[in-house]
Amino acid sequence: MSFDQLGLTEELARAVERLGFETPTPIQAQAIPSILEGRDVVGTAQTGTGKTAAFTLPLLQRLGQPTGRVRALILTPTRELAQQVESSLREFGRFAKLRSCAIFGGVSQRGQEEALRRGADIVVATPGRLLDLLEQKIISLSSIEVLVLDEADRMMDMGFLPDIRRVVRLLPAERQTLLFSATLPPEIRELTRTLQHDPKMVEVGGSGTPVTGVEQRLFPVPPHLKCDLLLHLLGRETMRPLLVFTRTKHGADRLHRMLEKKRHKVARIHSGRTQGQRQEALEGFKRDQYQILIATDIAARGIDVRNISHVINYDIPNSPDDYIHRIGRTARASATGLAYSFITPEDEDQVRSIERSLRRKLNRIRLKDFAYDAPPQPKAEFQTEHNPMLERRSFRPAASPARVFDRFAHSRTPRCSASGQTPRAGLGQGKLRSFRGDRLEFRGKATSRPEGSIGEPSPEEQAELKRLQRKLFGTGRTRHRHLLS
Ligand code: AMP
Repeated sequence: MSFDQLGLTEELARAVERLGFETPTPIQAQAIPSILEGRDVVGTAQTGTGKTAAFTLPLLQRLGQPTGRVRALILTPTRELAQQVESSLREFGRFAKLRSCAIFGGVSQRGQEEALRRGADIVVATPGRLLDLLEQKIISLSSIEVLVLDEADRMMDMGFLPDIRRVVRLLPAERQTLLFSATLPPEIRELTRTLQHDPKMVEVGGSGTPVTGVEQRLFPVPPHLKCDLLLHLLGRETMRPLLVFTRTKHGADRLHRMLEKKRHKVARIHSGRTQGQRQEALEGFKRDQYQILIATDIAARGIDVRNISHVINYDIPNSPDDYIHRIGRTARASATGLAYSFITPEDEDQVRSIERSLRRKLNRIRLKDFAYDAPPQPKAEFQTEHNPMLERRSFRPAASPARVFDRFAHSRTPRCSASGQTPRAGLGQGKLRSFRGDRLEFRGKATSRPEGSIGEPSPEEQAELKRLQRKLFGTGRTRHRHLLS
């Protein structure tokens, strides 16, 4: 089938041609005609199959001319995906007159308000910010003709179901509803039953099957050698662009530091970064300024970078669905790609459930030229690299417990940075807040935090301090309670 046979307008066909799309992908071939007819559609398509064009092209066609009212709403789970979908709308709608705008949190709402005031026909939004704007009566959804739920399974996982229901209550009952999801768990089926009317089911590749063209390999490795294995692979294979997934944002930060130390051009994207930082990382990765992008699952939604050669699961994902989403970042639109997963003995259960979901065993690779039996490195007294909270405080590791004790008790006078007072004795008053260079910073009152303060110590941080305290002072907790406060 060709794009000509899909019945798209001349403007849309021109835009598609300009993007270099020659033939529709299966999801496009199946979904576009039904959406053009005005039917509700459930599209089960993995990421990377061309599903964005499958709904944006017919949507643009159905809306036709601008009317100055918001007539289509696309809900996405993440900011990145909202931006990605909105930029696709701009590309496909290049020769049409319709206007779109993206609405998402993490940035000032002023620009979004202005875009709405100028008149948007299509709004792409994450649920939270959309509800904010609805409450402030900055946007009205009373003229919506088409609702699209993109990556619906992800929105469920992220707990957006109540928000989606709140939004839907504000929409006209008579509308077209399109739902796209990589997987179709029971709660999504239930959602389609309540939101849609006799939907056409369009399934590409079967739910739970990753994009074809991705070669998947498992790399069993002891946990302490994961970073070495990554560096080893980076040294022996060309992996550009490379997307690396970690389970937590702290893990992403840690790996980022380690790779930067080895002079790799690396960026990171996770929910602890500001929207500006996330955008800069993604743009830099797209422009090839960064070879490696480290991401957590949530932030990775909407990463649409062409030609990602490798995806590495530095930490195995928690669910088979996440695995499929992750590896779908490579081999987009029928290209080929490699997905490597580092697995430790504790990950075996997750691996089994991924293999069950894929209905096949994955290849396990043991490299001949990698030292799997290398012992763990002795831990530095304060492993700033492993302690994200302390890292933010410019914490410098001490060479030995004696040095740490020195710092605490004798060598420098701690200063009370918030109150400007100097505590009496080295271990006297206030709360331990940070080391600057080799100077301790204390703070007098919890209420007088300097700007940029990071709040109370995390459990992880408390454990680290407890460990140090035990090492230095035995188990006499009460005497040095301030260390833990
Ligand atoms: P999506 O699944 O919508 O995120 O799309 C994945 C990638 O495939 C995007 O980079 C699209 O630009 C690209 N793409 C979508 N449709 C086609 C097509 N028919 N031919 C070639 N590339 C496409």
